[in-house]
Order: sequence, then structure tokens, then C-alpha cells
Amino acid sequence: MSSTGTSPVWHPFTQHAIAPPPLTITHADGAHLWTLEEGVIIDAISSWWVITHGHCHPQIMAAIKEQAGTLDQVIFAGFTHEPAEQLARELIDLAPAGLTRVFYSDSGSTSVEVALKMALGHFHNLGDKRTRVLALEHAYHGDTIGTMAPGARGVFNDAYAPLLYDVTRIPFPAANNEQATFDAIDEACRKRDVAALIVEPLILGAGGMLIYAPRVLAEMARIARHYGTLLIADEVMTGWGRTGTLFACEQAAVSPDILCTAKGLTGGAIPLAATLAREGIFASHYSQDRTKTFFHSSSFTANPVACAAALANTKIWRHEPVLERIAKLAEKQQRHLNAIGVDNRFSNIRQIGTIAALDITVTDGGYMASIGPRLQRHFLAHGVLLRPLGNTVYVMPPYCISSDDLDHVYSSILSGEQLVRMEAGQ
Ligand SMILES: *Cc1c(COP(=O)(O)O)cnc(C)c1O
Repeated sequence: MSSTGTSPVWHPFTQHAIAPPPLTITHADGAHLWTLEEGVIIDAISSWWVITHGHCHPQIMAAIKEQAGTLDQVIFAGFTHEPAEQLARELIDLAPAGLTRVFYSDSGSTSVEVALKMALGHFHNLGDKRTRVLALEHAYHGDTIGTMAPGARGVFNDAYAPLLYDVTRIPFPAANNEQATFDAIDEACRKRDVAALIVEPLILGAGGMLIYAPRVLAEMARIARHYGTLLIADEVMTGWGRTGTLFACEQAAVSPDILCTAKGLTGGAIPLAATLAREGIFASHYSQDRTKTFFHSSSFTANPVACAAALANTKIWRHEPVLERIAKLAEKQQRHLNAIGVDNRFSNIRQIGTIAALDITVTDGGYMASIGPRLQRHFLAHGVLLRPLGNTVYVMPPYCISSDDLDHVYSSILSGEQLVRMEAGQ
């Protein structure tokens, strides 16, 4: 039953030679996952940042069941359906002002690929030779070839470097050093060959949960706009309440030219992504000339079942006090971080909305490399799913997590830190 050495499955981001066998999940509910091997565990990372309201949310599950009985899948070129039409109107209504067109795809990576193609296609159709992309240091935009290029380079993509196009790297806007970021964007944009600046608004996720202020995002957007550079907001992780507002851009009063959403779009239940664009970007592709068509499609573009799930998600947002729930979770996270703050075994304690992160300080650099997987095993033994990024431990739970469960997550972090210290002989 359970996956062992005989399983043919090749798991993502998994070194099968050293990873323990994967746990088998039989079912899920709210913030809980049931494993065949270890009983129930708390999903403190929302199953890789996708689950927002909780697992198997009744309304989302019901919408999926209902849609599955009516229309499963249909080609989306030359055809349309009510779930996609309704959802597009909802997204335009909920997203920052100025976005008027919705292009569907099926993952965060494809939503970013679509955004980049829209930006380059826009200028190509206008006869403007802008092809360069600006991206932040430590950025993450996906694992496909086109999204790895603007992402940070390193061990994760060394092997594929020959396939990755050149981008202009902008320094991360570290606190009190933001001017360097603004200057770099200004200098790059002056050359007028820049099509787009792509950013993860307010927090860089996979790059280490690195947070910057809303006013910094606003200033980056202002500089880009000044030079006619399109701003792509990759809200794949930040969207749907993660940072305290529905979209992170809202906190900076920024309306990007293109916005990518995926992960929490269906409440995390099934894959769906959307790339929202300003009218001008649609308009530059709108022509009697067929060569100006936006040449992109996924087989499952706007899958009706996925659209129905997303529509159920937007209804939850409209009819339930989701923002209040998020504010309460944010407050609880803050209380835990404040309690930890006084014992200084952790550094860079940080938080935005529902996301909390802290670094465990270990002096032995060699040991550092293996600390993540060791901690992960410790957490699992305590019934908690956490997946540290190196020595950064972060807590990003579904919004429905109970206070008791969150207390348990933090006590496992504190005992994990002790374990690390003991093993490192400090
Ligand atoms: C997860 C993520 C992606 C990629 O999304 P997938 O659905 O895994 O392809 C892109 N951008 C950001 C900011 C992400 O966090």
C-alpha cells in the first residue's frame, strides 16, 4: 500500500537516495491530514501554500461535484462556458482596479509564462523593441524553463542554465537599503529595451520568506510606469489573503499591468491559474492581422470543474468573514513570534499577514545544509507538517487552524530548535 522502494513514483524536489519513504495520506479535513503511517498531522504549510480556507471545504467540494455532473472539459478556443465567464467577472471585480482581461491556465508557472508572453507580445505587436525582463534577486516564479530564468539562479537550476535567457537582476529591497533597488530599476529602464519588471509583491516566498514594505512596492511600480515598463505582479503565493489582504498589491495601492494568480484560486482544491491584464495589453493583440494573436493555450485552459471550484472560493470570500479570520490568525502568529522574540535563539523573526518566518542560527555551516530535512523529520514526529527552507522555518497554515493546533506547531518549533542546538553541539 504505502510507497516504498518499489514505487515507480518520482516525487517533486525529492532526493530519493536519502529521503525517507513518503507518508501516505488517506484523507484531509480543515488543517488536518491523515497519514497511514503516523496518524493525524497538522498541515502548517497549507500543503505547499495552496490550501486557504482548509482541506475539503464543503462548499468547494460541493461545487466540484455538481460541475462534474454537468460538463467535465471542453476546448476553450472558439467555445466558452458559464463557470469561466462568471469567474472572469468575479476576478476582475475582486482584483486591483484596471485589470480587465482574464486568461486561464493551470498552474502558477504557466500563469507566469503567460504573463511574460503577454508582455513581450504586447511590445512586439506595437513594433517596440522591448524584450528585456527585470527580476528581483532571490525571486521565485516557477520551475518551468521560462519561469526559472527570472528566478534566482543556483543549485536548483544550474543544470538548465544553458536554456535560461538573460534577465537584469535587481537587488532585493532589504530594509534601509531600498534605494539601491530603486536606482537599479531606474538605470535598467532608462535603456528603454525593458518589457517588464516581474515581482512577488511584499514577500519573496521560495527565496526565503523575505519581506519588504508596501511603500517599496509602490515606488518600484512608479519607476517602472514612468518608463513604460510593464509591472507583472506574481501573486501566485500572495493572493487570496495570505498577506492580510485579498491581493498583496492592495496594501501598496498598486494596480499592476499584469497579475498572476494560482495556488489559492480554487481554495487550493484543484489546479487552476489565471493571468489578468490591462485593456491595453489585450488591445495590442486585437487586430484583423492574425499574426498579432496571443499564441498560447493549455489543453485544460479554463477547465469547467476547476472554474466551478474557484467560483465557490470567490463566494466564500464574498459571504464569509474571511478577512476577519485572517486578521485573527495574523494576530495569533504575532503573539507566538513576540513570545519567541525575547529568547533570541532565533533571528530575522518576521511576519506578514498569515505568514510567519524565523531563522534558526547555527554557526556550523556544513551542518546547516542538512538542518532542513532533520527538522522536518522532527516536526513530523510531533505531528506537524513544516518544511523549512534551509534554516528558515515558516508557518503558513490554512486560515481555519485552531489556536490549540497553532500552539502545538510553535511548541514543535521550540523543541526543534533545541534538537538542532544539541546535535550541533552548541
Ligand atoms: C508556487 C509559485 C509559483 C509556481 O506555481 P506552480 O503552481 O507551482 O507552478 C510561481 N510564483 C510564485 C511566487 C510561487 O510561489
